[in-house]
Amino acid sequence: MSPVPRVLVPAAIAPTPPALGGCIHDFAGASMGTTWRVRLVAGSTLRREPVRQAIQGALDEVVAQMSTWDAASDLARYNRAPAGTRHVLPEHFDAVLACAREVAERSGGAFDPTAGALVDAWGFGPVPRRGIPAPTALAEARGRAGWRRLDIEPGGRALLQPGGLALDLSAIAKGFGVDLVARRLDALGIADHLVEVGGELRGTGVKPDGQPWWVALEQPDDDAGGRQTLLALHGLSVATSGDYRRWFEHAGTRYSHTIDPRDGLPIRHGLASVTVIHADCMRADAWSTALNVLGPDAGLALANRLGLAARLLVRAGDGLAERRSLAFDALLR
Ligand code: ADP
Ligand code: MG
Repeated sequence: MSPVPRVLVPAAIAPTPPALGGCIHDFAGASMGTTWRVRLVAGSTLRREPVRQAIQGALDEVVAQMSTWDAASDLARYNRAPAGTRHVLPEHFDAVLACAREVAERSGGAFDPTAGALVDAWGFGPVPRRGIPAPTALAEARGRAGWRRLDIEPGGRALLQPGGLALDLSAIAKGFGVDLVARRLDALGIADHLVEVGGELRGTGVKPDGQPWWVALEQPDDDAGGRQTLLALHGLSVATSGDYRRWFEHAGTRYSHTIDPRDGLPIRHGLASVTVIHADCMRADAWSTALNVLGPDAGLALANRLGLAARLLVRAGDGLAERRSLAFDALLR
């Protein structure tokens, strides 16, 4: 017997809006070391190339400003800059860093946009290396990190490089990229779209049949027998952070690419993934990482305190146990 899917329907979408006409156009490409996909509603005579360029151009802007992998990005240049220099951040970089800083503060440093040296030390940065870093290397990396070292000129966008501070916005930039693409589509007069970058999604408007964009929440490992959760992305974003995507194994232990900046070590608790639903994909992305670092208990408690819609999948024996925040539960009804 197949289980009944649980369905998430935000109250805002009922009753079903009338059919709008038009047809669905699909676009796909690559950016940020992953793939992107866009589905949108437009007439059959849509000129595709300007739309494709608008999407790719938006993601290229994010990479040019915030990539740790592109040595020419604004972020990479800031990371290499000498101590005592100030750097005027471009608009998107500035907006993402402001949000990252807010999530860092509210998560007690579980999320930290200055964890770049730690990410590198564990081999999850642009220079590949495997294995446990030497204690001295780890201590050096920890000494360089710390969001409290972020010093932005009051009222301005000039960020101080205090010396050795290495920014890493990989846990938030993909979500921002999704938001930026959605805004660019809106600006082109395209009101109904589903945007996805590397598994992070944002849905706006409805399909030609008047239905919202339905997505199934990712189930890590093979959870074929489990219940599927369907989500109507009607003005909502969803992002997931989980160790089932990037990790390495050493002496029988699995090391996640998500680091706990508070002790400098990859997270080790039993969380398989954290999914956050939020109006902004940037916030969904950052909070999914923050809650993942905090772990099943503190993560769930903070989600409830802040009213975040979060679903945590906790490893339990051979399977996974699901824990939902109150705001997530409210979406289920
Ligand atoms: P994914 O969606 O790919 O599972 P995340 O959104 O959780 O990943 O981002 C993971 C990436 O963020 C890491 O590869 C690293 O570059 C960076 N990172 C790791 N730990 C943290 C942290 N505690 N705070 C902020 N960024 C982090
Ligand atoms: Mg993230």
